[in-house]
Amino acid sequence: MKVIEEKPRIRITRQRKVILEGLKNSTSHPTAGEVYDMVRQELPRVSLGTVYRNLDTLSRDGHILKLDLDEGQKRFDGRIDHHYHLRCLSCGRVLDINLDPQTDIVKKANGMNNCLITGHKLEFTGLCPQCRRDEESIKQPN
Ligand SMILES: [Zn+2]
Ligand SMILES: [Zn+2]
Repeated sequence: MKVIEEKPRIRITRQRKVILEGLKNSTSHPTAGEVYDMVRQELPRVSLGTVYRNLDTLSRDGHILKLDLDEGQKRFDGRIDHHYHLRCLSCGRVLDINLDPQTDIVKKANGMNNCLITGHKLEFTGLCPQCRRDEESIKQPN
């Protein structure tokens, strides 16, 4: 019995490790499909469903963050400390914004309308450095 159980468990651990390392080494906040493409380079036989399941488990256990941004599709982040994101309105890229956690707005909002407020979500929108440069070069042609 034990031998039968052990084999898939080792495989699952390896898949998780590849996903986790890929996310920790990336700052691109990939979608599940992009994680799948990344994992396939190392584990060509992995299925999309397996990648989805592993991403769910890893985020549930707090090893990665699942980002539910306004664009609709979920993205994944290997960085798990509290930080903010900018979603570029032009190219859709998601970048880290290193602003200290705004705990004071939770305190300020707490108790309003008799609610108990325990957290907040904040998403910045604007232009990433590249799109900003592109925009400026259109505005000011030399
Ligand atoms: Zn952009
Ligand atoms: Zn991030």
